[in-house]
Amino acid sequence: MQADQPEGALTLALCGATVVVALDPPVVVSADVVLSGDRVVSLGVAPPGVPRRDCSDTVVVPGNVCAHHHLYSALSRGMPYRLAPPTSFVQILQRVWWRLDRALDDRAIRAAALRGGLDALRAGTTTIVDHHSSPNAIDGSLDIIAETLAELGVRSVLCYEVTDRDGPGRAAAGVAENRRFLARSSTARGLARGMVGAHASFTMSDATLAEVVEAARGGGVGVHIHVAEDRADQADAHARHGIGVVERLDGAGVLTGDALLAHCVHLAPAEVHAVVDTGATVVCNARSNMNNAVGHSPFNHVRPGADIGVALGTDGIGGDMVTESQVAYLRARAADAATGGGWPLERLTDGARFAGRVHGEPLLGTLRPGAPADLVVLDYPTPTPLTADNLAGHWTFGLSPAHVRDVVVAGELVVADRRSTRVDEIEVAADGAREAERLWVRTDAIAPHDFEPGGSRR
Ligand SMILES: [Zn+2]
Repeated sequence: MQADQPEGALTLALCGATVVVALDPPVVVSADVVLSGDRVVSLGVAPPGVPRRDCSDTVVVPGNVCAHHHLYSALSRGMPYRLAPPTSFVQILQRVWWRLDRALDDRAIRAAALRGGLDALRAGTTTIVDHHSSPNAIDGSLDIIAETLAELGVRSVLCYEVTDRDGPGRAAAGVAENRRFLARSSTARGLARGMVGAHASFTMSDATLAEVVEAARGGGVGVHIHVAEDRADQADAHARHGIGVVERLDGAGVLTGDALLAHCVHLAPAEVHAVVDTGATVVCNARSNMNNAVGHSPFNHVRPGADIGVALGTDGIGGDMVTESQVAYLRARAADAATGGGWPLERLTDGARFAGRVHGEPLLGTLRPGAPADLVVLDYPTPTPLTADNLAGHWTFGLSPAHVRDVVVAGELVVADRRSTRVDEIEVAADGAREAERLWVRTDAIAPHDFEPGGSRR
């Protein structure tokens, strides 16, 4: 609630739209969406006297959640690459991402968060679950991201990626950054909340893993970690510890109901069941997995009845969850024609459920009365009738991020008529281009990372 608004005052009515109240199970009504402060208060006919925004011939949907992002990669598009082409996933990390992350300084972190956050909003993504790495600018990095996203009006769940690949000092600094951010009061963090980040089993010692788990327990949150994205993670766990990745992480206490497990591609059936039993949420990142040629997550097929959240993320390939969900659906269909049409809506709902839990907002991802007012107005004059029964068909085969007209987060109009109301988009573009060039030069001067799975150095 804004300070100048009396409690309970109605602050905005979005009028005349087709409203998707929930994605799974789909609920679609024709109504005015009436907001009070940061909440949806009613769906129906807006009473007189409320500020109105004409939304006729539009579709209003809950804002999307990207459940696994790396905002720090937002300035990497078009980055020159002069080394020998990588031929494996580990080489992609050594030669691209573990050079870029070491080149990040505070200015670049902010510019990347600004570019990436704005791109997400403009695509209708209102919540970003981010996994951040900047080994030469660790302390305070989560504050920079939180403040930048707050400036744009993006809701977020942030963490710092702890790893041993850059030595014990930086591993300790990573744990400390997670702890420091979690210790800030929720008022100071605004629209941001924290988790504890960890890179992956294959770049972590037992001692560092234990530190991460302790930090998460102390903060009352889960661990956000990459799990068996590539075969190399499993091979390392077997070589160094004589067990698989899931058994190792479970033994360390990582696999709780609050954990967020990105990828889970190379899991044996017994490991899939073990993950399901923990109640953790898995995030599939179809476009990233295809781009890195690492394989296809079995969690795309853990259905029906399995009591586990399977969300979707971009893994840094922008913040557009409309396209991500469409491609992920086609990838799941290509593997299994029994994949139901409602699959993308179920996955996006699982992502919202996870983020809602972290934010203490069980109605996040819906537009039910009492839900946080995080919503998107789509300029989508329905080419055929749109109902709850056929919403999935429109979603997969009709929608595009280009339909996003307005975006509301926590009751505030943060994108109006395809432009941010908070920042000058031309300035953001110019700043991003300048910072990208500086970042590319710095990255270019950094050698491939010498960390190898199995713990050995080349
Ligand atoms: Zn990732």
